[in-house]
Amino acid sequence: RNSCVSDSSDSVISSGSDSDGQIYKVVLLGEHGVGKSSLARVFGGVEDGHDGDETGNTYDRSIEVDEEEASILLYDIWEQDNSQWLKDQCMKMGDAYIIVYSVTDKSSFEKASELRIQLRRARQSENIPIILVGNKSDLVRSREVSVDEGSACAVVFDCKFIETSANLHHNVRNLFEGIVRQIRLRKDSKEE
Ligand code: GDP
Ligand code: MG
Repeated sequence: RNSCVSDSSDSVISSGSDSDGQIYKVVLLGEHGVGKSSLARVFGGVEDGHDGDETGNTYDRSIEVDEEEASILLYDIWEQDNSQWLKDQCMKMGDAYIIVYSVTDKSSFEKASELRIQLRRARQSENIPIILVGNKSDLVRSREVSVDEGSACAVVFDCKFIETSANLHHNVRNLFEGIVRQIRLRKDSKEE
């Protein structure tokens, strides 16, 4: 539509509607320790083994969803510093959001609701895709939030819901496919 950063050697500039060239900005939100960076690394295809607590990463990756390529720029920057400015930026910049809590930590679940409310306030008139994610589903014995509580919360907050395990790579692919589908749905309904 606007810019034409050409990624091919031929000189044809594809305009608009073509789906490649479209990059979706997806922002991870959630309390410290819930597994945002772990999910981001799985998504980014980063080898396991280093469990650094580094913050401020973005991951750029294309995935094929419903036979169509989609590029995602995933931002794991929510905890990069404590400035209000960055938090405000995060709330403004996303095309979609992943709000993560840990199923082993009730307070992170409550924090997720708060984040959902903040997001709604920041983007009032917009109908942005949000997925609520209950991570660490592998930790069966220390579970504090049930699947039912998670999905009920998602209904109240009008967003999608999925449980994942970054450690087992369980549902991580589904999570990102779900994000892409939601973004496409909203876009299509806007354009009509
Ligand atoms: P962040 O602070 O939200 O970025 O969380 P991290 O990704 O740094 O994860 C915090 C801790 O939880 C690390 O020790 C991870 O190894 C662990 N963790 C993350 N995801 C999972 C998971 O799905 N299952 C289990 N058992 N541990 C996890
Ligand atoms: Mg982190």
